[in-house]
Amino acid sequence: MTDAAFLDRLAAIVGPSGLVTGAELRGRSANWTRPAEPCAALALVRPRSTQETSAVMAACHESGVAVVPRGGATGLVDGTLCQPDEITLSTERMIGIEPVDPLGMTVVVGTGATIESVQEAASAAGLFFPLDLGARGSATIGGAISTNAGGLRVLRYGMMREMVLGLEAVLADGTVVSSMRPLIKNNTGLDLKQLFLGTEGTLGIVTRAVLRLRPEPAGYATALIACPGVDDGARVLRAAQSAFQGRVSSFEGLWPDFYRLMTAAGRATPPLGHDYPFYAIIEIECVAEESDRFLSLLEGLMGEGTILDAAVAASEEQRRGMWRIRDRVEHLNADGIERAFDVSVPLSRMDGYVRGALDRLAAIPGCRAVVYGHIGDNNLHWNTTRLDVAGNAAIDAAIYEPLAELNGSVSAEHGIGLEKRSKLKLSRSPEEIAVMRMVKRALDPDGRLNPGKIF
Ligand SMILES: Cc1cc2nc3c(=O)[nH]c(=O)nc-3n(C[C@H](O)[C@H](O)[C@H](O)COP(=O)(O)OP(=O)(O)OC[C@H]3O[C@@H](n4cnc5c(N)ncnc54)[C@H](O)[C@@H]3O)c2cc1C
Repeated sequence: MTDAAFLDRLAAIVGPSGLVTGAELRGRSANWTRPAEPCAALALVRPRSTQETSAVMAACHESGVAVVPRGGATGLVDGTLCQPDEITLSTERMIGIEPVDPLGMTVVVGTGATIESVQEAASAAGLFFPLDLGARGSATIGGAISTNAGGLRVLRYGMMREMVLGLEAVLADGTVVSSMRPLIKNNTGLDLKQLFLGTEGTLGIVTRAVLRLRPEPAGYATALIACPGVDDGARVLRAAQSAFQGRVSSFEGLWPDFYRLMTAAGRATPPLGHDYPFYAIIEIECVAEESDRFLSLLEGLMGEGTILDAAVAASEEQRRGMWRIRDRVEHLNADGIERAFDVSVPLSRMDGYVRGALDRLAAIPGCRAVVYGHIGDNNLHWNTTRLDVAGNAAIDAAIYEPLAELNGSVSAEHGIGLEKRSKLKLSRSPEEIAVMRMVKRALDPDGRLNPGKIF
């Protein structure tokens, strides 16, 4: 079948407005990290339902065409990058959010719905969808499922895996696997939804999901603290978790270069001076009456020297101001510190790891680096300058090489995609990778779903 005949077949399934090609397609960027690079696919297809997705996949299967799933394209490991002979399947027309079940505390959504739209729907029903990350306005539920997204509240609510009760997926040959049960307990053989959580669109296209909602937090106590080092930060976290029985929802570490850059003139206002060795934003879910207890905790830790200085948010505006210091990572790009890394390190070994990596990075000519992250979840983000091939390899080595010995991970929450394929072996054994390949072959024997990603 010629390209034109194949595209006509797809257009017949999704309607003419469901197929984007030519200049309109080239007007879309490859993804968030490559804003100037046009999407390279043969066509972008926009089904409106699971049934249309199934028909598109069956057509691609018969014609031997590979398919790259695409949500908001905010993923940071090139998981949505396409070749010119591939189709990219966008979920942007599957954005329906059904009425919230207030008693079961669940909601059924199309996977093209953005994280923010689901947060808003939950909030309108007096409930709470806890997943939250900087790209919430563009990132989709399908992307969050496929990357098992983490974000800012993992400490309290877990990753996306914890928020998905059921889902519907379309396999490479068009088969629909529907596991849309709104059940917390369901031990009936293999938990098939897990096949699609964190597997980056390599095993199926997720079209719908049943999400678990939570009661809306009564309020927050938020502070920016400065400590002598990350180990002291960890002590603050443990003390707060004990004092507030696991209601610490965020603990974000900010090393000094990151803090200075995010609070430079014209950016977020710095609540604390610039000369401390380590900063953290700590947020606790609590009622207003508990704020005195939060203050006493911080004061006690200051008395011991575990905290050097602290600013407590006295209003929602101040709280948002503190989060702006953490959230506005676009400042890093503006300063040319644009290569993003996402790794995991046990908290007890983080201090030595960061010091060692910073020393190695400082020795690379032309390299600037900052480090910050969801350290309560063992998760560090590095951002560095982009150098030439040799320079980038030296940066990669400084950040990734120590991880294997530390029992860390080359990807905490962003996934592997194309970008980290060569690093997978640093975090996974040959046996683990062999089993992953077996699963891939069983579900997609011809390798047509998001080819080349992960492996
Ligand atoms: C400013 C910023 C902040 C971020 N912060 C965080 C953070 O704190 N935590 C975090 O985890 N991530 C973060 N990210 C990364 C990104 O937002 C998440 O990975 C998000 O889950 C991706 O969603 P998306 O809809 O953009 O997915 P996309 O980028 O479109 O896709 C991601 C992967 O999932 C696949 N995919 C997408 N939709 C489907 C589907 N329906 N079925 C099957 N496969 C699919 C794609 O093929 C690709 O492999 C951040 C990104 C940015 C730009």
